[in-house]
Amino acid sequence: RAKNSGGNQYVCVSREISNSASEATELEVYLRRILKEGGLELYYQPQYTIDEKLCGFEALVRLRHPRFGLVLPDRFIPIAEESGLIVSLGNWVIEEVCRQSRAWVESGLPQLRIAVNVSPLQFMRVDFSNFVEQVLKHHNMDPHLIEFEVTETTVMRNLDEVARQMRVLSDQGIRFSVDDFGTGYSSLRHLHQLPISTLKIDRSFVERICERNGTYSIVEATLSLAHSLGMNVVAEGVENKQQWAILRDLGCDVMQGFLFSPPISSQAVPALVEAATPVTLRSARG
Ligand code: C2E
Ligand code: MG
Ligand code: MG
Ligand code: MG
Repeated sequence: RAKNSGGNQYVCVSREISNSASEATELEVYLRRILKEGGLELYYQPQYTIDEKLCGFEALVRLRHPRFGLVLPDRFIPIAEESGLIVSLGNWVIEEVCRQSRAWVESGLPQLRIAVNVSPLQFMRVDFSNFVEQVLKHHNMDPHLIEFEVTETTVMRNLDEVARQMRVLSDQGIRFSVDDFGTGYSSLRHLHQLPISTLKIDRSFVERICERNGTYSIVEATLSLAHSLGMNVVAEGVENKQQWAILRDLGCDVMQGFLFSPPISSQAVPALVEAATPVTLRSARG
């Protein structure tokens, strides 16, 4: 489904870039350069409530390369993590989401929440919450419109520092979701102590939800647990009507996936929003 995920060129990219060290180095050098000169792009994947109303977007970063075309994050996020460049990359993403959101509001679009992926290395910086606060202020951005997606690993690896920063940010109105939920080893006892409003069920569970001996019971249990803790649940990677119907019957709050839309370029967002009936999702815990 690579052609659906925001870059027709990706299929040839994966063939062109093997995992060889020299090409990783080339991407790292290029990444370093474009973080100064520009060349990253954000795509936005819409999210829908159970009654199919648009309720927000997830911002997903892409890299524009002269030879490789539009490169998807699985290719360069690991390189950015290893080299430490993820901190400036991630900061750019937060700035760009605020700038873009502001521009959309000023052009008359209704406000919608945007989810941003945050890496553990960003969170481990003691000045992360200060940085976010400054960016929001600079762009006159309502903190309620930002959601930070963290993984279970981020939370568990550095619990005290992450918890501290999450509380500071959540006191300002920023929401948190746990991304790829079910693939890591987080303890619910710990998650419950953190200001987390949403669990995002990983695509691998949605993929096998219709199969006999599949993941139905796991998803069912996750939903009932999350709801009993007052959290919303987003299903990622919903690709067909069958999955959608099961998730709807189970009471999943929000869905995201190719069934609705792939990630789209920022230029394509206004038309999608105008054609939809957007709602602001109320979080039980927020
Ligand atoms: P993620 O946060 O779990 O994002 C969801 C990924 O699933 C996206 O891939 C999206 O295009 C893809 N997807 C959405 N719906 C479907 C579907 O129905 N079927 C299938 N097969 N895939 C679907 P993408 O954009 O390639 O991003 C991959 C990962 O890269 C993200 O996974 C996230 O972990 C990371 N990432 C993306 N942007 C950022 C960023 O700004 N910062 C950081 N730290 N990580 C990022
Ligand atoms: Mg995510
Ligand atoms: Mg995810
Ligand atoms: Mg995932």
